[in-house]
Amino acid sequence: MKDTIVLYSSIGRGHVFSMVELGNLILTHNPSFSIKILIPTPTNTAKIDTTTFVCNSSITFHHLTITPPSSSATTLPPHLLIFDITRHGNHNLHHVLQSISKASNLKAVVLDFMNYSATEVTDTLDIPTLFYYTSGASTLCFLHHMQTIKQNRTKSTNDNQTYLEIPGFPTISTQELPQESTHIEDIFIKISATLSDCDGIIINTFNALEERAIKTLKEGSCFPEERNPPPVFCIGPVVSVPGGEKDENGCLSWLDSQPSQSVVLLSFGSLGRFSKNQLKEIAIGLEKSEQRFLWVVRSESDEDSLEELLPEGFLERTKEKGMVVKNWAPQAAILSHDSVGGFVTHCGWNSMLEAVCEGVPMVAWPLYAEQKLNRVVLVKEMKVGLALKECEDGFVNATELGEHVKELMNSEKGKEIRERILNMKVSAVEARAEVHVLVITWHGSRQEAYAILRESR
Ligand code: UDP
Repeated sequence: MKDTIVLYSSIGRGHVFSMVELGNLILTHNPSFSIKILIPTPTNTAKIDTTTFVCNSSITFHHLTITPPSSSATTLPPHLLIFDITRHGNHNLHHVLQSISKASNLKAVVLDFMNYSATEVTDTLDIPTLFYYTSGASTLCFLHHMQTIKQNRTKSTNDNQTYLEIPGFPTISTQELPQESTHIEDIFIKISATLSDCDGIIINTFNALEERAIKTLKEGSCFPEERNPPPVFCIGPVVSVPGGEKDENGCLSWLDSQPSQSVVLLSFGSLGRFSKNQLKEIAIGLEKSEQRFLWVVRSESDEDSLEELLPEGFLERTKEKGMVVKNWAPQAAILSHDSVGGFVTHCGWNSMLEAVCEGVPMVAWPLYAEQKLNRVVLVKEMKVGLALKECEDGFVNATELGEHVKELMNSEKGKEIRERILNMKVSAVEARAEVHVLVITWHGSRQEAYAILRESR
């Protein structure tokens, strides 16, 4: 029977992509293994097309059907439902893992960290379980401190002047903390507890990028004292290969006609959407900045055309300097284009890594999930971006955006940031060349089991 490793992705193409890359990495040096990637597939969404992934032939896919919870069956607000959906897939997961175990030697399961509730199944079946943390090491340090932050918050309410010292994380003021509901805090706390108790944590990062956080995690000083910390393996930067996607709107040929490093890309991940008012404000800010730009516009109302969404005459006035596309653009390829010199980003981890790998400095405008924490890391720790200041309701005014874009492209500070990220690009290339072996070996039963994921230098 073949040795098999199951990789259980979270919902969304980006998460499946990360698992495919991890699978490829494992198979490079364990060619006798087979890898099965489970893709959670809620009954109300389309199946992800797996034929477009570049995969080792020993990787197969399985769509794990999940009936999403009805609104009455969950206490979570809609944007956090994703954390609850996999719990509803646990019953199905149990069956699938059992049948894989019958047909092969199921050696280990690697869970996307968002599927933390799947340990209810892997614990029951006594299968060694690792996590793939698809954000950065710094935010993982932060997660491990969430319980303490929560306790202290109830003691001293809303004191904006308090600064927190968190092992492995830059000094952060309480004002910079994600001001979301207690739901997200509770989820962070659960993720931290589950990850502290697993057989290994794999992170998409590299030493030069997050040295302090990686050291903290490897030393285990951020984990509860009574536990042996799980081993930590950094395999990054794992990013999309530029050029893998179609350029339906002609962004790349437009960039060909622009001067070197002159264009600012504005792109906000797979979920970032703005109100009409916010889009108008961005447009005014871009015009004021007088910089060239390529803007991927996604609005809360899909039906509206760009003319309806943007200020009157904006597209005509800026046609020499700017390109605006709706919904989606091949971001990795755009960032790798020589004409791109800046990036206004929502601070999604993949977007940040792609910018680092291409040496493109950033303006940080976080929108959801752990992105506010990523902004703190980007600006204070990596020092490769400028922070935008939003109003309490998240609104960013035109002057704030325009001035930061100008500062990034056209100031001494912008120049320093650019130099720093170009150095980081070199370190990223070196890191990618380094992690070329990833060996997983299991010994004995789970109680004695340990994982050796060897990062060969
Ligand atoms: N992306 C893209 N085109 C777009 C928006 C996003 O190719 O118009 C890609 C981007 O390059 C990145 C991923 O989608 O690889 C977004 O991942 P990230 O972690 O940055 O943000 P998320 O979507 O998870 O919030």
